[in-house]
Amino acid sequence: MQEDKLPFSALVDRMFSSQLAVWDIAERNYTALASVQTREFPFDGFSVYVQFNTSRILSSGAKVDAASVASRPCFLCADNRPKEQSVVEWGKYEILVNPYPIFRPHLTIARKGHLPQEIEPYIHDMFSLAAELPDYALFYNGPRCGASAPDHMHFQAVRADVLPVVNDYISLKQKNASLYDRTGRAVTYTVRGYLRTLFCIESSHADALGIAFMKLYNMLITEPLVEPMMNVVCLWRSGCWYLFVFPRAAFRPWQYSADDEGARLLISPATVEMSGVMITPLREHFERLTVADIADIYSQVSLKL
Ligand SMILES: [Zn+2]
Repeated sequence: MQEDKLPFSALVDRMFSSQLAVWDIAERNYTALASVQTREFPFDGFSVYVQFNTSRILSSGAKVDAASVASRPCFLCADNRPKEQSVVEWGKYEILVNPYPIFRPHLTIARKGHLPQEIEPYIHDMFSLAAELPDYALFYNGPRCGASAPDHMHFQAVRADVLPVVNDYISLKQKNASLYDRTGRAVTYTVRGYLRTLFCIESSHADALGIAFMKLYNMLITEPLVEPMMNVVCLWRSGCWYLFVFPRAAFRPWQYSADDEGARLLISPATVEMSGVMITPLREHFERLTVADIADIYSQVSLKL
């Protein structure tokens, strides 16, 4: 098969394999990921998982205040990337291997140019790229909702089936979902009893999906000209988009910065956490975490509607 005839997702998969062959840090972190420890916490009809992942200290512990961000070289700008890092181009985006993965593979999709993280201008790019990568779920961390580069627009992508929300939604939809809105050819559902607020917009039409998303976005606005806090997951399956929106109330739970070390939990919720996998880079926190902590963290960082 000629290279230009390969499906786009095959080009991305090939880039992932070839990066591991030449990039020691990435290869080491993906190898370590194979033996990462996970705990499962069952709830009513779904589970939440906790992953002990030391390589995520950079992300979980990231300082994302304006001064800290301004004083470091942006790791998503082409000039500052490791020499081993290569890209697959997609329009105005570059698809990169994340060398500090939560899942295998874990991609970072950086927009060319150093532009702030925001969803509204780029939501249709998210739909288009999700359709190009049908095995993947694309996701977006709002600038105050877990993005470790709030100054550089980017998405991330992992295999869709590793995010518990994708399978939870299918099973919970039967009894726990209610119709929230119908806008043209898009339908928005909410899911009850899920510890955190979740909307799912379904549509086979990108224009309708975009309109329904913006309707939800505008409903969530609390401050003029400020993006409502949110995490977003987009996947394309059998000709239909599924857009999961987790509205947020807080960036991090109080336990993140607790003075009492016995209460502190280094968990910084982003899309992966909202989707059902909490990450901590510290063994002691991994072992101490309880089912009550998980419910408490979601109740603090999720917006109650
Ligand atoms: Zn940048």
